[in-house]
Amino acid sequence: MEVRAVAQAGVPKALVASTFFERSIGLAPAGAAEVALREKRPAWDNMIEVAPGANSAPHADTLIVRRAAIDLGAKSVIVLPLTVEGQTYGMLTLYAEERDFFDDEEITLLTELAADICFGLEFIAKQERADYLAYYDALTGLPNRSLFFDRLTLQIGAAGRDRLNVALVLMDLDRFRLVNDTLGKQAGDTLLGSVAQRLKQTYRTQDTLARVGADTFALAVSGVWHAPDVVRVLEAHNRKLFGQPFLLGQEELRVSATAGIAMYPDDGGNPETLFANAEAALRKAKEQNAPFLFYGPEMNARLADALRLENKLRLALDNGEMMLWYQPKVDVRTRKITGFEALMRWQDPESGLVPPAKFIPLMEQTGLIMEAGRWALLQVARDCRNWDAGAGRLPRIAVNVSPIQLRQKNFVDTVVEAVDQMANAGGALDLEITESTIMESVEAIIPKLQTVRGLGVEIYVDDFGTGYSSLAYIARLPIHALKIDRSFVIGMDQGKENLTIVQSVISLAHSLRFNVVAEGVETEEQAALLRELGCDEMQGYLISRPVPSSEVSALLRAMT
Ligand code: C2E
Ligand code: CA
Ligand code: CA
Repeated sequence: MEVRAVAQAGVPKALVASTFFERSIGLAPAGAAEVALREKRPAWDNMIEVAPGANSAPHADTLIVRRAAIDLGAKSVIVLPLTVEGQTYGMLTLYAEERDFFDDEEITLLTELAADICFGLEFIAKQERADYLAYYDALTGLPNRSLFFDRLTLQIGAAGRDRLNVALVLMDLDRFRLVNDTLGKQAGDTLLGSVAQRLKQTYRTQDTLARVGADTFALAVSGVWHAPDVVRVLEAHNRKLFGQPFLLGQEELRVSATAGIAMYPDDGGNPETLFANAEAALRKAKEQNAPFLFYGPEMNARLADALRLENKLRLALDNGEMMLWYQPKVDVRTRKITGFEALMRWQDPESGLVPPAKFIPLMEQTGLIMEAGRWALLQVARDCRNWDAGAGRLPRIAVNVSPIQLRQKNFVDTVVEAVDQMANAGGALDLEITESTIMESVEAIIPKLQTVRGLGVEIYVDDFGTGYSSLAYIARLPIHALKIDRSFVIGMDQGKENLTIVQSVISLAHSLRFNVVAEGVETEEQAALLRELGCDEMQGYLISRPVPSSEVSALLRAMT
């Protein structure tokens, strides 16, 4: 046991230095402190300088303290243990400069004083316990309903300020009654404790988590939510929570849960409404035997739409419904084709040609983009084989790359494969990567870009001007060209500001020896200005819209 000095008055620090009683036991006869600690009663010594042991075993810690006291002129000592509910938390030690100082009267007084301190300590401990019970669930250690509401109120306040949504999820264990009835209440309690344990491990600490009913858990998660995102988070977490069976004594039990979800602010602007609506959604989910339901019908509808679209997209890849369209880039002066950009299209048998804005974001959320992106990189070579460049060479083709593809370990391998096939088809491959993608993880991306460039692949920084690049990084990047975002090109012939931005990007690029491509050029005025500013290449409806692969040869004949 370690005795540590926590406070002192009127004595130097040396006297209350930490003391290890264990190390002193047997080395010296017990002093007042040891007796007080062991017997949990006040102990005193009114002649410390002649007390037994004063002349023995100088390395015993207790003796060191005693000797320091004697050196200071102390003659008497009393030690009062501070004991709450049978456990000693501290000792109050008083020294006096006189022999026989602690007489009966003094001892009675000091014992009462110590008792008062203990009473205070006991009161504080009880209060803490009471507070704990008022806000926490004793069985699982999770916050209870009333603390949950406190925290939810704060969370909603913060979300309102930051324009975030909060998903309030009420989760009810399925067939919990059955567990209680067949395996016993003890098993039921164990299960609840284990579920709570996994919940704590699964959800981030900043998520508000609570037990709000017998077998109902609540959690509130802030973020920018769309219905499919909430569900994706829930499903991923449910796999962690319920993927493994629970061990109840000898029994292994598989458990599942039903959830009702209400979204702040759409389904309620205050904790009470939000909670009531999540409860309503939970009831409905149970009635309908659905694993989860949102309160708002439009959320459920949007979710159903997204899930349907996701399934259709999965099939679209297998069914060959994806294709690449091609838009030429031309030299700003000669207007001859310098290359093509490949743009994905989906030929949906139900609704016709779908533009990428409608499906690329969902592909990125679901991870489908990895397969689709790889498909695009390899499809370019297949398309190339059907083109006729006449006497000239085939132009270079740039493929758009998603940040998710770039993060893949095998990204470079896929590019190597695509470059190979392109070489066989007589073409060359380039990549377009958005500025924000590059800036997000510039250090991790640079080596990949360097490898890829070593294969003869040129890198274009897409949507340049929207991504807050750091100049220090841009200069270091192994890139070929910056593509000025369409939003700056649009207003070029109207406002001075956009013109200035385009001008600055061009001179910046040229000073770093990068090429500049202007995107989305629609008018001759824009083209003339770009020419004046020394822009190298341009791309846009003025020259040509994206065309299907079958029309590329005609463009090549007309524009090379
Ligand atoms: P992006 O890479 O910035 O592609 C340029 C977009 O601008 C294309 O839209 C193109 O059709 C459009 N565009 C070109 N010239 C003009 C013009 O003069 N006026 C107007 N209003 N628009 C013009 P698209 O094909 O709908 O593609 C949209 C975005 O989808 C692309 O933006 C790109 O970020 C993404 N995307 C397309 N294909 C792929 C792909 O294979 N992989 C990945 N990861 N993303 C792709
Ligand atoms: Ca692009
Ligand atoms: Ca772009």
